Amino acid sequence: MKTGIIHSVKGRGATLVVIGGGAAGFFCAVNAARLNPSLKVIIVEKTGKLLSKVKVSGGGRCNVTHACFEIPDLVKKYPHGTNFLKKTFHQFNTSHCIQWFEERGVKLKTEADGRMFSITNSSQTIIDCLMKEANQYKVEIIMNTEVEGIEVRNSNPEIQGEEKVEFRNSNPEILSEEKRFKVLLSNFKFINSDFVLVACGGYPKSSMFNWLKELGHTIEEPVPSLFTFNMPSNPVTQLMGVVAENTSVKVVGSKLCEEGPLLITHWGMSGPVILKLSAWGAREHANKNYHFNILINWVALYNEQTLREEWQEIRNKHSVQKIFNRNPFALPNRLWIYLLDECDIKQDIRWADLGGKEQNKLIKNLTAQEFEVKGKTTFKEEFVTCGGIKLSEVDAITMQSKIVTDLYFAGEILDVDGITGGFNFQHAWTSGWIAAQAITKAAVIKY
Ligand SMILES: Cc1cc2nc3c(=O)[nH]c(=O)nc-3n(C[C@H](O)[C@H](O)[C@H](O)COP(=O)(O)OP(=O)(O)OC[C@H]3O[C@@H](n4cnc5c(N)ncnc54)[C@H](O)[C@@H]3O)c2cc1C
Repeated sequence: MKTGIIHSVKGRGATLVVIGGGAAGFFCAVNAARLNPSLKVIIVEKTGKLLSKVKVSGGGRCNVTHACFEIPDLVKKYPHGTNFLKKTFHQFNTSHCIQWFEERGVKLKTEADGRMFSITNSSQTIIDCLMKEANQYKVEIIMNTEVEGIEVRNSNPEIQGEEKVEFRNSNPEILSEEKRFKVLLSNFKFINSDFVLVACGGYPKSSMFNWLKELGHTIEEPVPSLFTFNMPSNPVTQLMGVVAENTSVKVVGSKLCEEGPLLITHWGMSGPVILKLSAWGAREHANKNYHFNILINWVALYNEQTLREEWQEIRNKHSVQKIFNRNPFALPNRLWIYLLDECDIKQDIRWADLGGKEQNKLIKNLTAQEFEVKGKTTFKEEFVTCGGIKLSEVDAITMQSKIVTDLYFAGEILDVDGITGGFNFQHAWTSGWIAAQAITKAAVIKY
């Protein structure tokens, strides 16, 4: 039973409890506290660490966002929630994010692949900036405390006292506090609050959402996104460390197809093209229990037909050279030799002497080599959960729940996930910022 009340801020403006001290929670908390100084903002964090993913992301440099400035392009980086994100990014997007940090002395730089980092190359700069804002605007932080549930007062707070007020697990002591929510904490205490922001990140298991389901929300089944493909015992893994720059990879029996660099690893395959496929097909791959086949085109400038059309020209050009020594596709040498071995092409064969059978097999393997994927490995650099709070139950203009008034959501807890490269943090900043605006406005109107 919950017994101790730790916050009851009657008569001192409204209270906002932010559940989760991650990127989305912090961004909402510091903006809300700055925009409405009479709003009491409390972050409740279950662990002993704040902004822990900010700290480790981008190899300790924090990949704050991605240099993608057009909203139609930006939304294409998110496998889920395109329509929802169009509305959110119109309010706060990459440009706003860069400006927000710059106004607080944090200058961002763009790397060749579009990822954006602090010019200090240290995630601590981002953490220091957010902590400084939190201190300046007197955000209160409670750590090592898990929120276990939220009880909702059914009446409209504006007509409090005239209506019959009901709590689940009704507690008369709390009824008199005239607050909309009773936030139940792990240490048998609770906080009374007018507004709640749920920013507790992605939960890997459906059961972890139970306390949110009790509020009437629907959960899209969580499945991992951003993982690498395992190919146990496949000889290709002997090429670990090899990167093929221009590949396209198609999942057999599916519409999923992506292009980009591919990295061969000790366990199978990784690199941007595989991570994109893992994100776009997160649910499809989970349904297949991570067992499916892929077709790799190692020379994505061609397809089988166009390569056949150019083949004679390539052959003629290199006719006197040994095929093992003359790789006309700028593929890594180890990969080229592997592909030739797979086609049983002999070491001393010249381009001019390549037999029809071997030639056909080589063209096929260059443009559509089939591999069996069996299992996945977490991409340690960045992993996110696909699934979460159903987007149709949240107002994209405010981040407010359409089911429980004054309850808001931000960050990865929503059914939004981006591909790798800073897009997940951008969504966290965007949704946190929008919730802050909406809560501060609602607090002014109501209290
Ligand atoms: C290793 C790694 C690297 C990453 N790198 C990148 C990157 O480079 N670029 C990018 O865009 N994204 C990256 N991501 C993804 C990104 O970190 C997340 O999408 C982002 O942090 C989500 O922010 P959030 O605030 O919603 O959730 P989180 O950052 O997960 O924060 C949620 C917080 O809520 C707390 N919490 C959970 N439940 C409760 C509860 N019941 N009560 C109280 N507190 C609770 C958690 O302890 C946590 O501190 C990375 C993720 C990982 C794991």
